[in-house]
Amino acid sequence: MANEKADVAIVGVGWVGGIIAAELTKAGLDVVGLERGPINHRSPGYWDDQKHDELRYAVRYELFQNTANETWSLRHHLNETALPIRQLGSFLPGTGLGGAGVHWNGQTWRFHPRDFTIRTSAIDRYGASAIPAGMSIQDWGVTFDELEPYYDKFEYMAGIAGKAGNLNGKLIEGGNVFEGPRSREFPVAPPPDTEVEAMFRKAASGLGYHPFYGPTANLPKGYKNPDGVARGACTYCGFCERFGCEWGAKADPTVTVIPLALKTGKFKIIDYANAFAIKNDGKSAQSILYYDAMGRVQEQPADVIVLGAFVFNNVRLLLNSKLGQPYDPVANTGAVGRNYAYQTGGGGATAYLSDFEFNRFMGSGANAVCIDDFNADNFDHTGLGFLGGGSISLGQSGARPIQSLAVPPGTPSFGRAWKQAIKQYYKSVVSIGFQGESPAYQTHYLDLDPNYRDKYGQPLLRITFDWEPNERAMIAFAGTKTLQLMQEMVPGATVAGMSGPLSPTAPHIIQGGPGALPAHYDTVAYQSTHNTGGAIMGADPSTSVVNNYLQMWDTHNVFVVGACNFPQNAGFNPTGTVGALAYRAAEGIIKYHKNGGSLV
Ligand SMILES: Cc1cc2nc3c(=O)[nH]c(=O)nc-3n(C[C@H](O)[C@H](O)[C@H](O)COP(=O)(O)OP(=O)(O)OC[C@H]3O[C@@H](n4cnc5c(N)ncnc54)[C@H](O)[C@@H]3O)c2cc1C
Repeated sequence: MANEKADVAIVGVGWVGGIIAAELTKAGLDVVGLERGPINHRSPGYWDDQKHDELRYAVRYELFQNTANETWSLRHHLNETALPIRQLGSFLPGTGLGGAGVHWNGQTWRFHPRDFTIRTSAIDRYGASAIPAGMSIQDWGVTFDELEPYYDKFEYMAGIAGKAGNLNGKLIEGGNVFEGPRSREFPVAPPPDTEVEAMFRKAASGLGYHPFYGPTANLPKGYKNPDGVARGACTYCGFCERFGCEWGAKADPTVTVIPLALKTGKFKIIDYANAFAIKNDGKSAQSILYYDAMGRVQEQPADVIVLGAFVFNNVRLLLNSKLGQPYDPVANTGAVGRNYAYQTGGGGATAYLSDFEFNRFMGSGANAVCIDDFNADNFDHTGLGFLGGGSISLGQSGARPIQSLAVPPGTPSFGRAWKQAIKQYYKSVVSIGFQGESPAYQTHYLDLDPNYRDKYGQPLLRITFDWEPNERAMIAFAGTKTLQLMQEMVPGATVAGMSGPLSPTAPHIIQGGPGALPAHYDTVAYQSTHNTGGAIMGADPSTSVVNNYLQMWDTHNVFVVGACNFPQNAGFNPTGTVGALAYRAAEGIIKYHKNGGSLV
């Protein structure tokens, strides 16, 4: 027997599910959220005795998807057979109420105006021939100016701290002067720089760049948001990424939007509900089919169905349910699975300093000073051999005792010399990082694996992805910039290449230089959970899955929301834009519901 019909049913209760549930229930709609994981992360006392257990959360991945139940397969090229990813590594999708929003860092960006018109802008500035063959970057079907009010809404809800660099077109030094125009200042002022951040800021300014404090969801002081939700200030304990914040200082859905939705009495969450298909007749959808905690098939009917289950399961649900047309990379037809992209890391520089102490154990996930001079199209790419760029930052996010023991290359991996190196460098190692764009390509996509299935017998999602020459050139370039910054910051340091061994006798040593990506994309080491694409938005139904309200072109009562909507990925973390899209979708769903099935 099916559950009682809801106005709206949502798969996944993370940032997307939580924001949409809050907006819809405030507007009087009855909403059901199906969450595959537990709901206990905010129960009284949950974090009390275990909050900073690095082994449990950061190493053994307690809050993340369990690959024994469900995983992905990966291949680099169309002619390979994909193999299952049996252990988490490269990315860490969350499970449980709040999703990855519980254990994120809180770096909360807006994309640049040019990011939304990337293809048109590249052609306008460099000509069509500058876009490499096979690169399938496309405009979003929405502009920065159209999204600005939704970015603003997300930032005020979450209490993002930062300083505007562009207020209604007026550029302001000290903020990010490359950002698109904001309609008002950040809701919270940024905290002061730490000592090492101040050194970076001075070095970046000295080189003529434009440093600013990175926008953060880790509150530097108490804040009450427009919905009346109050949260306290960060204690800089350094346990953000991979951990829930026991204090609620890091904005997460379980301390912001989800309690708000529950307070209306109109939001019901069903936990351990693993959705596997959307029942539909091709024109409209009727219900969500899911496995309950006992593995039984259950059905949740609703007038409107929202997929908020992160990139991978949003796309898998569409493909499993035969919603939309699957993408064919050879014929270049269909849209579901198209333009899977990621985030291009690498090109950083690290310094091992002998006579500094930075108190690295203190920090917060988004505590950083950044420059945006080499992101997007903020610099002239003529003659560089690549398109795109990335953000450069020096952060102090905390240095936990197991995973933050950086030692110079060439140091033995155990024994006395290793311990000596940890003792020498724990307090004084510092890195400048680069986070680059990931353009879309015709051969990078998601589909259903023909060979491998999850524990319920459903096909795994297959990822076809690799690094391309454009990104290799971008990372090589980035490495020269981060090295230049580090040298300005630590004058006179001995510079070694990217591989050691480094001289332990030098007073200050820098490891840096032109960056290099591995021979192939590798899933073993963590890179980021900034997976994007597969259910992209756009203005053309033949090359996108959803319109600019995130409503499916083919099945009007299905909305698909998240980083899956990005046609390619920008040089920033994704969640500011995910949050903005969720607010935009909520507005669309309310209109659709009130107008009896129409958006106008
Ligand atoms: C360690 C880490 C650090 C990060 N730091 C940052 C950062 O600093 N800045 C930034 O911008 N982004 C960051 N991110 C990314 C950020 O967490 C995501 O962009 C954001 O959480 C996405 O929100 P979402 O609601 O789309 O998906 P999720 O948060 O993944 O939520 C999706 C929910 O759907 C549920 N679900 C999935 N499949 C099903 C199914 N079949 N049935 C039912 N439920 C299902 C999941 O259990 C989950 O609760 C980080 C991510 C990680 C893992």
